[in-house]
Amino acid sequence: MIIDTHVHIGKSLNFVMNEKMVIDSMKANHIDFSIVSNAEAVEVDHNQYLLPKDKQISQINANRKVINFARKHKEKIGVAIWVKPLQEKPNQRLENLIKENRDCIYAMKFHPYHSKISFNSPEVREFVKLAEKYNLPVVTHTAAGFDCSPLRVLEVAKDFPNTKFVMVHLGLNTDYKEAKEVFSHRLPNIFGDTTWVSLKVTKEIIKTYGSHLLVFGTDNPIDGINTLKKEIYQEYFVQAPKELTKEEYERLMFKNAIDIFNIKL
Ligand SMILES: [Zn+2]
Repeated sequence: MIIDTHVHIGKSLNFVMNEKMVIDSMKANHIDFSIVSNAEAVEVDHNQYLLPKDKQISQINANRKVINFARKHKEKIGVAIWVKPLQEKPNQRLENLIKENRDCIYAMKFHPYHSKISFNSPEVREFVKLAEKYNLPVVTHTAAGFDCSPLRVLEVAKDFPNTKFVMVHLGLNTDYKEAKEVFSHRLPNIFGDTTWVSLKVTKEIIKTYGSHLLVFGTDNPIDGINTLKKEIYQEYFVQAPKELTKEEYERLMFKNAIDIFNIKL
């Protein structure tokens, strides 16, 4: 079994990802379940400029779309609610959307870079409170720079001990020193995903800090229908079963995801 915890739909910026691409690529690569978020909730572009009003899609509309997708494929697709802490609030409408669709929602997703906001900001924390109320794990983009640093996740996770946090990418474009530092604190509520992380680094973290910490993720289908055919992901399908113990491999590819996101298959 394979669970991909980091998948997108959405047509925004240079991204063109649709439902058919997700379903077809899952089939082609034997992925059993994907947690999907809608990238149309980005607030700023790749150069950190606020998107113009006509390109902004409200968090309600962006998330309704991915909830509808999940409703059509309940056995295969779950939702990570992508929120917009720069411009919007965790208001009653968002709470109602979560409440009404809690059965197909598995996480709340933050992208501090594309929201141009520190993960450890009062605005983000307001949303985390809502995630906590509905027992939703928080997944957040981590990368180089202050706002997206894994160290910000550590700071927030300390204040929300009952909420699980997943450091997506383990710090994209870094040497993984900060993510490793975070794991060295051994907080029971901090995890990581393998999106764009080489098998070599994943293996090192499993062997050093434990096999319970990482979940498989990919950003599928961000580079098109063949995203999962890239060498970095083929390593997980072909090499990893040989290089990890059976238990380590199963934890990485689906067991940890089932535990962290409470997935019932
Ligand atoms: Zn992503």
